[in-house]
Amino acid sequence: MQRREFLKGSAFLGSLACINPVLSANAFTNGDKKSVFSVCEMCSTRCPIEISVKDNKGVFINGNPKFSTNKTSVCARGGAGINQLYDKNRLIKPLIRVGKRGENKWREASWDEALNLVATKLNEIKEKHGASSVIFTSKAGESHTHMSNFACAYGSPNIFSHYSSCPITYNMVLEHTYGGGLSRDFANAKYIVNFGHNLFEGIVISDAKKLAKFAAASDTKLLVLEPRFSVVAAKADEWLPIKPGTDVAFLMALIHIWLRDEKYDKEFVNEYCIGLDELKASVKDTSPKWQESITGISADTIERIADEIYKAAPKVVIDWGHKTTTTYAEYQRTRAIAIANALMGNYEKKGGIHTSKNTNTLNKIIGEDIFPTLDNPSNVFKVPNTPRIDGAGEDGNKNYFVSRKHGVLMDIAPAILSKKPYPIKAWVNTRFNHLVNVANVNESLKAINELDFIVSIDIYLNDFSNLADVVLPESSYLERDESILSVGNGYYMRNKAVEVIGDTKSGFDIFRKLASMMKIDELYTYTTIDEYRMQQAKGNVDLLANLKKDGIVTYKVPSLYLREPKTIKEFAKTYPQIKDKIDSNGELSSLINFKTPSKKIELFIEKVENLFPTHGCLNTTDYDVFKNHEFCLTSGKTPIHTNAHTQNIPILNELMSESPVWINETKAKELGFKDGDLVYLENEFGKIQVKLMLTQGIRPDTLFIYHGFGRNTPALKNIHEIGANDSIVLGSRSGYVCSTMVTNIGVDIKRA
Ligand code: SF4
Repeated sequence: MQRREFLKGSAFLGSLACINPVLSANAFTNGDKKSVFSVCEMCSTRCPIEISVKDNKGVFINGNPKFSTNKTSVCARGGAGINQLYDKNRLIKPLIRVGKRGENKWREASWDEALNLVATKLNEIKEKHGASSVIFTSKAGESHTHMSNFACAYGSPNIFSHYSSCPITYNMVLEHTYGGGLSRDFANAKYIVNFGHNLFEGIVISDAKKLAKFAAASDTKLLVLEPRFSVVAAKADEWLPIKPGTDVAFLMALIHIWLRDEKYDKEFVNEYCIGLDELKASVKDTSPKWQESITGISADTIERIADEIYKAAPKVVIDWGHKTTTTYAEYQRTRAIAIANALMGNYEKKGGIHTSKNTNTLNKIIGEDIFPTLDNPSNVFKVPNTPRIDGAGEDGNKNYFVSRKHGVLMDIAPAILSKKPYPIKAWVNTRFNHLVNVANVNESLKAINELDFIVSIDIYLNDFSNLADVVLPESSYLERDESILSVGNGYYMRNKAVEVIGDTKSGFDIFRKLASMMKIDELYTYTTIDEYRMQQAKGNVDLLANLKKDGIVTYKVPSLYLREPKTIKEFAKTYPQIKDKIDSNGELSSLINFKTPSKKIELFIEKVENLFPTHGCLNTTDYDVFKNHEFCLTSGKTPIHTNAHTQNIPILNELMSESPVWINETKAKELGFKDGDLVYLENEFGKIQVKLMLTQGIRPDTLFIYHGFGRNTPALKNIHEIGANDSIVLGSRSGYVCSTMVTNIGVDIKRA
């Protein structure tokens, strides 16, 4: 099929044209074949991939065999990238709303018309109400970078990413406690404590492979604490169905035992930590007996586990997960995990936790610029120093610790509705479905209806885009070139595999073009993605050529743990420059550098205590997720879909088209429900209709749903009004200190 024929065949809205993936794959039997090496974007993990292309049609995706960690592996979603590329419901022309907001009535427009409209409206709004009256949202990643650059150039401080709805807690806790991000050494650990970090469903291929190997080994122990018998629980040596929201009590009891019995790495704690006295005071009463009635785990069990972990240390990982049991006390839960790791002295030990040794860090360790490094052409863009609607980063505000480039999504709707601290008039969104991924959908819908102008950039006409005034179609990741990513000890680069289908553009081109049309591009030092890449690479044409050819450049560097003499000795054989830095214990202790205010691991955090009294050390404030309701609704990821992103893709939709709610079989029968019954889950925030799935694999007080279904997307035929949107029953009040979205929520069940 030729591109012209494809465009001619456009039917729906004159723009949502179709390619049948089976037909298109069969349509070419001769012609050029090639492999393009790029980076997957079906989730945020960014696995290196190889795309087989024939006659400019993508035909198959596998992992990049040159990437030694994943080799040719991709997950189901990664393999379905081709199916997304040719999904007949994709957007391929700019759309301008002609009906009422949300009525799904559009007319096609040229890019010139659509961008002119956006530029004119944004200029008008800025002139009348100020640049801050426009908010910008995006999923974190490359689209967020280019959107943020534009927002800064425009002059609005109201920039948001998905952080507050997902990884904000562990990022903030590691920064507050250790001064920065850390990695978990699943490959070499002997004991892993997992609080529902379900790597076999929320897949990160490289970590999932390591954890699978770990779980299968006979000399390791995987302990899983989770209210549901998930796939990771099924692979565990021991599963404890802990009451939802109570991980923090379990952890505080664990720490109580270790401090009570003096079973912790005293030498490490004395040398590298501060706040032991405050920690001792905070866990003085959190005994094994105390936690029994909170968590449902017996005192004997936790005593045994405390001993097992201590004996396995330092080859121990107490996993902070990604987005596990999100409660108002999530900051405390994750802090307790960070502290428990520190007490086991597993920092920079094989099988423990460690800093990532990227090329920059390696150059610093070696003391020479052995590896190429990157520039960041986006660094010139600074978030305006004017008040944000959520107060992120502002003195005394509850969101003080939140980055001004990421913000708190749950605060958007209340700010629009209350017009406080000032009125919001417009919303620019790219690749984020706020109405499925953010709590309190009903409030967000009301807020959206108050706005004068909404622009959405996406590859699909999803729930949020359906409410926009202008929808700009983005090219899929197989149709666009992107910037260089620094990942581990190397670099990845997303390379265009096929010509664009229809009339789509990359997010980079959309924002760059808008900036020049609006004459706000003085700070931009680049016009094309090639120029951006070249500036990143500091003119290193060899690096760029290799990234274009192979999609990745990685450097073979021996593993290095700064407190592990054996690995240091090996590393010094290749890089003798480090020999002078090795201390008498054979460690590289002079290179251990915690970027906290005290330059130590902070068991007690003064700056947190000052703003949030009692939160500087551990506490159990507000861990209850039931709030007088009979059940706690929990949610999680499936290996078949990525959040609310992939449900319409035909092959993935065939594998999983809806998500029933898990309920304990015995409890359901007590209540008179059977498998497949339709019920309402309701609370003070909303009500959703769901289908029940009876199983013994969940606690009697807990319900579970896979997130991302229940969509109001008339243009996406495969998913429109199928399943339930759990965000409808989530409230917009966020967790303490880290302002995380609370995803475990109390609900009651009523027969539908
Ligand atoms: S885990 Fe799967 S979807 Fe995510 S980047 Fe890797 S292959 Fe793609």
